Amino acid sequence: MIDEAAVEQFKASLRGELLQPGDPDYDEARKVYNGMIDKRPRMIARCSDVADVISCVNFARENEMLLAVRGGGHNGGGLGVADDGLVIDLSAMRGVRVDPDAQTVRVEGGARWGDVDHATHAFGLAVPTGIISTTGVAGLTLGGGHGYLSRKYGLTIDNLLEADVVVADGSLVKASEQENEDLFWAIRGGGGNFGVVTSFLFRGNPVSTVYAGPMLWELDRAEEILRWYREFSPQAPEDMYGFFAFLTVPPAPPFPEHLHGKKMCGIVWCYLGAMERAEEAFRPIRQQVGPPAFEFLGPMPLPVLNSLFDALYPPGLQQYWRGDFVTELSDEAIAMHLRYGPEVPTMHSTMHLYPIDGAPHRVGGHETAFSYREATWSAVFFGVDPDPANNERIISWTTEYFDAVHPYSGGGAYVNFMMDEGQERVKATYRDNFEKLVAIKNEYDPTNLFRVNQNIRPTTTV
Ligand SMILES: Cc1cc2nc3c(=O)[nH]c(=O)nc-3n(C[C@H](O)[C@H](O)[C@H](O)COP(=O)(O)OP(=O)(O)OC[C@H]3O[C@@H](n4cnc5c(N)ncnc54)[C@H](O)[C@@H]3O)c2cc1C
Repeated sequence: MIDEAAVEQFKASLRGELLQPGDPDYDEARKVYNGMIDKRPRMIARCSDVADVISCVNFARENEMLLAVRGGGHNGGGLGVADDGLVIDLSAMRGVRVDPDAQTVRVEGGARWGDVDHATHAFGLAVPTGIISTTGVAGLTLGGGHGYLSRKYGLTIDNLLEADVVVADGSLVKASEQENEDLFWAIRGGGGNFGVVTSFLFRGNPVSTVYAGPMLWELDRAEEILRWYREFSPQAPEDMYGFFAFLTVPPAPPFPEHLHGKKMCGIVWCYLGAMERAEEAFRPIRQQVGPPAFEFLGPMPLPVLNSLFDALYPPGLQQYWRGDFVTELSDEAIAMHLRYGPEVPTMHSTMHLYPIDGAPHRVGGHETAFSYREATWSAVFFGVDPDPANNERIISWTTEYFDAVHPYSGGGAYVNFMMDEGQERVKATYRDNFEKLVAIKNEYDPTNLFRVNQNIRPTTTV
């Protein structure tokens, strides 16, 4: 039990709101993006600034409270919230400042990728982000971060220059190649294990209009398309990015009515080269696989592409997640994809293969905490539906599909696609970077204050 007087004192120390059960905004504030997660924190602190974050870290440590940190609240496992704990809610800290001369972007710890896209696009700059613009910058970055720009410009962490971190003892430290290099190494893939990042400094890349959109094929062509894709994608120029999907066609424009509700396979492309050369860049694709059943390809501002699927995946859907790193798409793996992919159980459920070759491969496996630099794809198995009555269906499809393909994977998974899958899975993901991560955890968070994450347990505690 925490002394009420101490809570009042803590509340008075904050510039932001402190929400508790019974407060009018409490139920809205405890919701995260995944509707399957229903947690009831003891308190939610809507921090206004770094001073608020420091107060929260000190209060949680001194009162031995479970501490969760919420960036965008998108994590599939619901790791931005915790039962009976204190939530550091950064949703009021979303500032973005672009320095067009230095080509850098300063982003506060609670910003979403749409905030960054909006601010950077005005200057013809971009940071590699994910495929949904409402995702938090912090969680995505700290796990590695991949998306349409990754083959050319690297993972999101490969564009991180510096971060401000409030660590477990309540101090604010800077992490960069020059300062606290061990911490800088660890936060590039090690998730929220090492402290609360209140500010990121990214390199901006010259991207403005891209030539992008989906191509869809009938399922009877899935084997041929997958076999072609595994050869084409890794040797394609780095300007060309395409993620493969099994999907159900949404019943809305731009999809033609005769395809609505149809299960298909597809590739969502993003070409980063000169617009006048775009059709030429797609010519080999059209020559090699022939015309798709449907395509919606053309020039669009990058922020449009990055938010193209936002409306399809609003907050509150029931979601079940599995992930895998894939080095080679073997015949055996393709056979399993062909068995489970066409069985997508609901309109929102999908399986994606996201390319992470190209620029991410130019960084060594020990240069950042993110270990799987040799992986060609990051796979996600995503069971989704608005209706909780379908949870059993989406969970069994996701787990059965993953179980069938996993033996042909690289071993570990992208931490941001994992749910609560245990320490062995976390170790399999970091491989021989795990011991160094534990050593850095011992130094910065010996009591495991930051443990609502894919946890790297310190060896200094039991
Ligand atoms: C629909 C959808 C599509 C996605 N697509 C992609 C994609 O294309 N590419 C990709 O890389 N990922 C993708 N993701 C995965 C995404 O990277 C993770 O869900 C990520 O955890 C989201 O970050 P967040 O800040 O929104 O999450 P939160 O739930 O707020 O936090 C996630 C984790 O990060 C920690 N954390 C959050 N903020 C901070 C902070 N400021 N300091 C320290 N720790 C913090 C939390 O404690 C928690 O452990 C997608 C997710 C969804 C739901």
